[in-house]
Amino acid sequence: MKTRIKGAKIVLEDRVVEGDIVIEGEKILAINPTETVICENELDVTGCIVFPGFIDPHTHMSLQQSEQFRAADDFYSGTVAAALGGTTTIIDHIAFSPMGSPLMRSIENYHTLAKGAVIDYGFHGVVQYVDDAIVDELKHIVKSEGVSSFKAYSTYGFPSGDREFLLLLSALKEVDGVLTVHCENDGITKYYNEIFRKNKQLTMRNYPKSRPNLAEAETVGRLIGWADHLGDVPVYIVHTSARESLQRVAQARVRGQKNIYVETCTQYLLLDESRYAGDAVLASEYLMAPPLRSKADQSALWQALLDGSIQTVGTDHCPFMRAEKHLGKDDYSKAPGGVAGVQERPVLMYEEAVVKRGMSLVDFASVMSTNAAKIFKCYPQKGVIKVGADADLVVLNPSVATQVNSQMLASNCDYSPYQGFQSSASIEKVFSRGRQIVNAGEFLGVAGVGKFIRR
Ligand SMILES: [Zn+2]
Repeated sequence: MKTRIKGAKIVLEDRVVEGDIVIEGEKILAINPTETVICENELDVTGCIVFPGFIDPHTHMSLQQSEQFRAADDFYSGTVAAALGGTTTIIDHIAFSPMGSPLMRSIENYHTLAKGAVIDYGFHGVVQYVDDAIVDELKHIVKSEGVSSFKAYSTYGFPSGDREFLLLLSALKEVDGVLTVHCENDGITKYYNEIFRKNKQLTMRNYPKSRPNLAEAETVGRLIGWADHLGDVPVYIVHTSARESLQRVAQARVRGQKNIYVETCTQYLLLDESRYAGDAVLASEYLMAPPLRSKADQSALWQALLDGSIQTVGTDHCPFMRAEKHLGKDDYSKAPGGVAGVQERPVLMYEEAVVKRGMSLVDFASVMSTNAAKIFKCYPQKGVIKVGADADLVVLNPSVATQVNSQMLASNCDYSPYQGFQSSASIEKVFSRGRQIVNAGEFLGVAGVGKFIRR
């Protein structure tokens, strides 16, 4: 069956054109065809903008964060939320598995967890510790299992340090993989947490001080130093939040390092640390690591996003229920970290980046889709409107407004950190591999049709 999407502004990789897109089966058959193509299905979307399906390179569906806490969204609810918001691909993070397990065990576990997904998905592997067997297995997985990026954490239960960074970067270099890193210096965060604990000051107000800008920037600097040392090995910095981190990346790029990729997240662009200063119960709903930062950090992030220094905007979607977050009101160590955002990101970013700050539609598509597809090796199947690409398309209506409220959100979570935020745009229709899965706020898709993307 062929479908024609008519009368749209179409955001191609390098320009915007007006006209029609023809879908056949799962693929884009033509853009403004010169010859007549008869289509069984015609959809007039005059006045709307068609983007390549948005990609969220940073989600945590079905995450068992600790023995006590499990993220509110599984792969079904989380991907329905993603779809309604215009995201047609997520790259989700595999969770840590018991110490000593082979890497494949947790990947296999995630293949089972992801069976309910309604959109396509990939996985970032995760590394807890590194020895010869892990290095060999990691190289095998990158080559044969369709998981070409691995994440290491410099903090939490299994902090990676210089030795691990070096081993992982050199292993991934051999097989053309990408290391993604949560950068927060474990010693610095431990130091502050110990002081606050000793003084019984683990308050929400102190929370951002327990994970200062320098904790992130120090690790970013060290990591990109090792990547450079090994011959400009690709490295991807997740959820960048501090202006000092951006400075270190900028300096390295001036020195000639080319393969540093920087992600930030919606929350660091739209929210700031003042959320921790008021009522402690409300403040606990914004518990996340790294914490929300100052207005100065926020404006540095915006500048870096607008000038191309930041490549991707993800969400780190990892929501927990209000009651669970509120456990942290008097002691932040008692509540789980993470917030929602997978559904909210596209319309809110459109408002803030395109409407308020004048970002071009092409640049918007790059940071919301194309760059992630390229960095994580699913381009041009994903991330671009091009003949032969997957027909993952988002029809955004720039003149029907959205207000974030709990009724419109499909997440299992009972609140949004963006409650009350407005956008002048809304998501009108969404296509995933040619199948329409969203129409004007209604989800039309089916559980389990999302496919694992080997990349
Ligand atoms: Zn994360």
